[in-house]
Amino acid sequence: MHSITRRLFVSQVVLLAGCRSQTVEARPPSSEDVPLAYMARLYSMATSTSSTKVVMKNKWSTLEVETDSRRAWINGVMVWLHHPCRKSGGAWVIKETDFKKGIDPIIRSYSYVPSKVPRVVVLDPGHGGKDDGATGARKVYEKKAVLSIANRVKGHLEAQKIQVRMSRSTDEFLSLQQRCDFAAQAGADLFVSIHADSAGDGSAHGIETFVLTAEGCDSSNHYGEPSDTSAGKGNLNDAANAVLGFSIQSNLLKTAKRSDRGLRRARFFVLKNAPCPAALVECGFLSNPEEEALMIDANYREAVARGISNGILGYMTLVNRARK
Ligand SMILES: [Zn+2]
Repeated sequence: MHSITRRLFVSQVVLLAGCRSQTVEARPPSSEDVPLAYMARLYSMATSTSSTKVVMKNKWSTLEVETDSRRAWINGVMVWLHHPCRKSGGAWVIKETDFKKGIDPIIRSYSYVPSKVPRVVVLDPGHGGKDDGATGARKVYEKKAVLSIANRVKGHLEAQKIQVRMSRSTDEFLSLQQRCDFAAQAGADLFVSIHADSAGDGSAHGIETFVLTAEGCDSSNHYGEPSDTSAGKGNLNDAANAVLGFSIQSNLLKTAKRSDRGLRRARFFVLKNAPCPAALVECGFLSNPEEEALMIDANYREAVARGISNGILGYMTLVNRARK
């Protein structure tokens, strides 16, 4: 095991160590609600409640859930729920979808990751050619910045003997369908799309990672999608998507050191149609002057690339551990 893989392994596996073989009182099988108290027993966590949060903690990990809100944090990393945590029958509950497709896959990854060890990683630098993507005030182009970052991720993964394919390696235009077709033809085991963000509000900043929204649920991105609750091929990998997305977001925050906008849900075309577990990373806001400057800083690009590759390697480590 390479040293970097070992370090990742330690940080991820602490989540798991205390959670095996727990005998937990059953909850009503028909309930769509999962009480936070049930989760605390399942994870052997002590609970404390404030006016805005329920905090559950064992010696390995911390799960915080904001009440009457869609925000939760696992070991300090924000995870957006599909539905708010709310009070039902005097107890704080989350929806079963959020338990099964969000929180539990991240905390007990060994029960959820596919048994097949990922061999081929497809990196998908967003936009290209006639599609510039977002453009900052200093004319920093998203399509160029994300290609540079993707090339660096490729280098880090190949140094660990992982096979990497790039949907594009030049400034060329590819449709979203072509990107998904490429991933399928390449035999992708993991698909990671790399983007930079933009918002009308120039103060918006930070890093976020998207995975596909669960069927029947609303997304958590800032572009809306209020009426689309449909399913896609990517929903076959709901739990693994969450594991991958969380691993990338948490590792990216450590290396890039930008604010945490969370692991979010969206029905982006490439997430909906990816043939394997998939995530889409937004590496910062080109509409924010400070982050636009970072996006042309080689040190920042390298930090982002290191975070994304560490996230992918962390996911692979979890798969390897789950097989043992
Ligand atoms: Zn983009």
